[in-house]
Amino acid sequence: MPAADFDFDLFVIGAGSGGVRAARMAAALGARVAIAEDRYMGGTCVNVGCVPKKLYVYASEFGKGFADSAGFGWQVPEPAFDWATLRDRKKAEISRLNAIYERLLEGPGATIISGRASLVDAHHVAVADRSYSAGKILLATGTWPYVPDWPGREHMLTSNEIFDLEHFPERLLIVGGGYIATEFAGIFNGLGSRVTQAYRGELFMRGFDNTIRQFLADEVRKTGVDLRFNSNPTGIEAGVTGYRVAFEDGSDLEVDTILCATGRRPNIKDLNLACTKVRLDDAGFIRVDGNFQTDEPSIFALGDMSGGPQLTPVALEEGMAFAHREFGAGGPEVDYNFVPTAVFSQPNVGTVGYTEEEARREFGDVTIYQSDFKPMKHTLSGRDERSLMKLVVDSDSDRVLGLHMVGPDAGEILQGMAIALRMGATKADFDRTVGIHPTAAEELVTMREPLGT
Ligand code: FAD
Ligand code: NDP
Repeated sequence: MPAADFDFDLFVIGAGSGGVRAARMAAALGARVAIAEDRYMGGTCVNVGCVPKKLYVYASEFGKGFADSAGFGWQVPEPAFDWATLRDRKKAEISRLNAIYERLLEGPGATIISGRASLVDAHHVAVADRSYSAGKILLATGTWPYVPDWPGREHMLTSNEIFDLEHFPERLLIVGGGYIATEFAGIFNGLGSRVTQAYRGELFMRGFDNTIRQFLADEVRKTGVDLRFNSNPTGIEAGVTGYRVAFEDGSDLEVDTILCATGRRPNIKDLNLACTKVRLDDAGFIRVDGNFQTDEPSIFALGDMSGGPQLTPVALEEGMAFAHREFGAGGPEVDYNFVPTAVFSQPNVGTVGYTEEEARREFGDVTIYQSDFKPMKHTLSGRDERSLMKLVVDSDSDRVLGLHMVGPDAGEILQGMAIALRMGATKADFDRTVGIHPTAAEELVTMREPLGT
């Protein structure tokens, strides 16, 4: 069928980070674009992810600030926190962002279609009772929280619901040991809940550098979170005074609210993939090639659902690369090396490049530089909090392969450092760089003695 005979050149399913970026770039490049969304403009990041999460992190840090200020001479009356104020102001801000996303799409002329979309065949998408034809279809429906099949799982909430709780939880159990579990443990602990975080393995934050994982565990415990390892639920029962959770080791715990943060799976329910040649990979994500093309040549997929790092900036890069390749003059493929990431735990984690364990496997001989120190602020605040900086250096080439930190503003510090690592900076380059004093980040350019010497 000639391209002009299709209703659209591109039909995007899902107006999240990746879908919106692809749709508006393709439309700006002259393509006739439609985008279908069934819940909220901006997707997970804007509505139940990065944005509300970061607002809640800010909220949760004030308590610590009030307490620390006493060491600097401030006398603050006993602070009180009002959950409804935070929740409702957050809602208003998200509504403002939803409208901005709509305008971002309408600006370059993309057609927004409200409703749940499903595939009809390789070139047709149905929304409600209408069918649309398109030269190319882009799947960008993201992921959805996965809740293991524990008896009583219906009593657990996920990150989709936790932002909008009617009542603030005095006693909160968080199950999981990844990004979401650890970030929300910090949020609710900071806001005043009694938080228990239960992780099934020996040490949480699998995939991060081992030194960072252990250091973070120690710091999180100091903040008052009851962080339990080798601890996994076996079932949940609703009682009169709360939910009673039973654990594998025979212990139990009563709480008001349970957050399940045990990973996310591709959001493919209702997409009707079976009517096409689109296939999943072994982990259940949509199988794509380097250009986001699925096994069905006219159908593409990107963002969280296609199995790469589940991060908004990655989905944005992919959306941009897809639009330029399919509707513009082409452009570079997305480079997944040295993707920086931050966990907005308390304290924060920032990481880019190889962990020590990965670097030893891949490069053999590596040199480690590490600094563990008390942030200057806490000399007067009296808070027992420490920061950690770690460099993983290839002993042969002197290239800095990995940079990891635990401490305030880790995300802010790591963004710039990620440029240096991507450009191939060596330890000698770090050493030649003059520090900014007094900052925590200056540690990164002043570590001279390798660990273990
Ligand atoms: P999504 O943003 O999930 O968008 C998919 C869209 O498709 C949704 O709007 C959905 O409603 C829609 N949709 C699904 N099925 C259909 C259908 N059949 N028809 C129509 N529409 C459909 N990343 C970071 O980089 N930094 C962070 O700090 C961060 N914090 C996070 C915190 C939480 C609690 C969570 C859950 C995630 C966080 N992330 C963070 C991850 C980030 O949100 C995702 O990587 C990003 O949103 C992925 O974008 P996407 O376009 O692939 O999918
Ligand atoms: P993660 O993959 O980070 O963590 C999932 C956790 O659940 C792991 O500790 C995992 O344990 C555990 N788990 C998995 N299955 C089970 C099970 N059956 N029983 C018990 N525990 C289980 O996923 P999240 O849900 O925390 O977040 C999803 C993604 O969203 C993240 O990977 C990240 O990419 C993105 N995100 C990014 C943020 C940021 O950039 N700051 C913030 C929040 C989310 P194990 O390690 O043993 O498998």
